[in-house]
Amino acid sequence: MKILVLNSGSSSLKFQLFSKKDLAVLAAGLIEQIGDENSGASLSYTDPSGSNLELKQSGCVSDHREAIQLMTEMLQKSGTLTDTGELAGIGHRVVHGGETFHLPIRIDATVIAAIDELIPLAPLHNPANLLGIRVSMEHAAHIPQVAVFDTAFHQSIPEHAYLYALPHRLYKEQKVRRYGFHGTSHAYVAGQAAKQLGKPLTELNIITLHLGNGASAAAISRGSCIDTSMGMTPLEGLVMGTRCGDLDPAILFYLGRETGMSMDDLDTLLNKESGLKGICDESDMRSISEAAEKGEKRAQLALAIFCYRLKKYIGAYTAALGGVDCIVFTGGIGENSAITRKLSCEGLEQMGICLDVSRNSIRQEEVLEIQTAESPVSILVVPTDEEYEIARQTLQIIEQSDSDEQG
Ligand code: ADP
Repeated sequence: MKILVLNSGSSSLKFQLFSKKDLAVLAAGLIEQIGDENSGASLSYTDPSGSNLELKQSGCVSDHREAIQLMTEMLQKSGTLTDTGELAGIGHRVVHGGETFHLPIRIDATVIAAIDELIPLAPLHNPANLLGIRVSMEHAAHIPQVAVFDTAFHQSIPEHAYLYALPHRLYKEQKVRRYGFHGTSHAYVAGQAAKQLGKPLTELNIITLHLGNGASAAAISRGSCIDTSMGMTPLEGLVMGTRCGDLDPAILFYLGRETGMSMDDLDTLLNKESGLKGICDESDMRSISEAAEKGEKRAQLALAIFCYRLKKYIGAYTAALGGVDCIVFTGGIGENSAITRKLSCEGLEQMGICLDVSRNSIRQEEVLEIQTAESPVSILVVPTDEEYEIARQTLQIIEQSDSDEQG
């Protein structure tokens, strides 16, 4: 039996097929530019002899219904899934679970209605996620399907950390509070860190830093998340590829009054034109690091601002946790950018955070420890794997509901 993981975006469908037995990846694919003439689909998989192969297809995929159909055909063609009846379950990534969902859940009509109700909190993401769920429920009605929420891991954050200092009615009436995102990744890498250190999660204080195009930090106290840097939306917190992160909110009033920018203009400015891109016209950390090394001043500045913000969060979360045992770097930047790790840990030796510069420059696919031998705090590079974590949680929910039915 197998588990399929779907991540449905507004114009894309990412999918991965896992073996149920050991959660090994059997196939991974992506259908892009759905609704466009130039849609493209690709699938990589391993054949029975162990060779890595790829299938590619182009041509118009007009909607998500066709995309799911195409995915099924490609999986069949690759021989990794001959019939949907081989699926023990399908796991769906859902961005926003609001305060309704603290855990993954088996999808039924009530769950769909609840995700639908949360659309105002994630107007770009939840509709696309729901579309994938609805089409997949029609396509494979007999297969158990599970929703795994990006926000769920952060639902353990206490009130004093998730509330903003705004009139309380805004929380009560408009649901204005910190929710946090990237929860599946933070949970996964914290679990991997505990494994690496050979200690139960319940004995560790961990700061996880998910640094990709979007970036967030989480403070995890004995397995339970107590704070995270993204807020009501993914805009708050760290400096990101094109998002500004923390900002004096009065800048918005100032710009509105002085320049006549509209709400939509400001939204675009802060979400799409700021962050690394705003500082140096480039959002990709690899290019920025290369430019910085060649001496380009703005690239150096972007790197410095990014790492300074990161360092402040490491300090703040060390205080929030009452001391930290382990810092985890993950995401495209966290896993690959040695300079980011070096600059953000530099000067934190008094806090017990001592990076080994030569270990930090090692590149490997597996978990890597980059602290010095004497460092009281462990510093780890942990490759994230959100699809694996969604597959694992999906399997857990299915097995739980099977045993509930039997019981
Ligand atoms: P997403 O959030 O879209 O999933 P990723 O986690 O893949 O993004 O991270 C993308 C970021 O990782 C980009 O800024 C990219 O430049 C950076 N990155 C990837 N590889 C490297 C590298 N070798 N050195 C520095 N940055 C890298």
